[in-house]
Amino acid sequence: ILSELDDLANIERVASAITEVLRLPFNLANELAYVSASLGITIYPDDTTDTDSLIRNADQAMYLAKDSGRNRFSYFTKSMQEKALYRQHLLNDLHFALEEQQFELYYQPIVDLSTGEIIKAEALIRWHHPVRGLVSPVEFIPLAEESGIIVEIGNWVFKEAARQAVLYQQKIARPLQISINKSPIQFHMASDHIDWSEYLEEINLSGESIVIEITEGLLMNKGSHIDQQLVAFHKLGMQIAVDDFGTGYSSLSYLSKFDIDYLKIDQSFVQNLTASSDELSLCEAIIVMAHKLGLKVIAEGIETEQQKQLLNNAGCDFGQGYLFAKPLPAKEFEKLLI
Ligand code: C2E
Ligand code: CA
Ligand code: CA
Repeated sequence: ILSELDDLANIERVASAITEVLRLPFNLANELAYVSASLGITIYPDDTTDTDSLIRNADQAMYLAKDSGRNRFSYFTKSMQEKALYRQHLLNDLHFALEEQQFELYYQPIVDLSTGEIIKAEALIRWHHPVRGLVSPVEFIPLAEESGIIVEIGNWVFKEAARQAVLYQQKIARPLQISINKSPIQFHMASDHIDWSEYLEEINLSGESIVIEITEGLLMNKGSHIDQQLVAFHKLGMQIAVDDFGTGYSSLSYLSKFDIDYLKIDQSFVQNLTASSDELSLCEAIIVMAHKLGLKVIAEGIETEQQKQLLNNAGCDFGQGYLFAKPLPAKEFEKLLI
């Protein structure tokens, strides 16, 4: 607490001095130990006047300092408070979204790059918020994960996608795989694939119609018996894809340790893809490596004909992106199939 502040510039001087001092190594039993400090700053009475809110403000500002790389200080701002409030409201509303049937699945085609035929579709969740309109999964999935609601949402996604797969296959009389995103939290919190297999039986859908997209991070995680859960999916005939490949971890050993069917090359590689770009070399290397390991490759975020050509020439198996179609409501997607 800095009392009787007549010049706000003094705050920075003190905050810098604290972080500087704490950054120096400590001598602990003849070992050098390092710590860093993250400071959050709020100002009375400008920001708020009661003690609880002051502490909450400072706490939020401290998290911003941490998120910006630690060993620094941040001021509390109005927009931080608004963001925190917005998240709080969204989280409250999320609790009712399922029973109020505010979720919908959109479908984005995944095509065979050599023939252009739609072989699969990725199911992507959309939230029709009664007041805010369409809320992006990028905003609410992290909240759903933090609060654990993702388990229920994930089960709904699975059932909805499976139900839709049956309808599509009846319409087109050929197999179409639907891939769904499964959050690591779902793997850690519940062994819910038992219900999933029952549901497949109930609607008479073969597991082969479902691909589960997981993140690299999940495979680096010890415990929760991830390998057994993946094996259980395979036993049901489902396949496994590693999403956003190439962005997360440098350890590749997990690729041979786990039974995986597809790598999805992350959009960031595809976006900057031009002939003789580094990204092209990376994509080519990923594709060769995947094929040697017996995996197929799906490139995400294809927006131009040139990107498609380069990936096809590099031997990439499947493609997904706005060039083919944006994610579409189930009925619209159906029109692409016939
Ligand atoms: P993701 O799994 O990597 O999904 C691909 C995202 O890229 C989708 O965003 C899709 O609309 C977008 N996209 C597809 N093609 C292109 C393209 O050509 N250019 C660009 N710029 N973007 C493209 P979306 O639908 O907003 O989903 C964002 C993320 O939210 C997903 O990333 C996924 O991580 C998560 N998500 C979506 N649905 C679910 C779900 O049912 N469960 C879980 N756990 N996560 C989901
Ligand atoms: Ca995905
Ligand atoms: Ca992805």
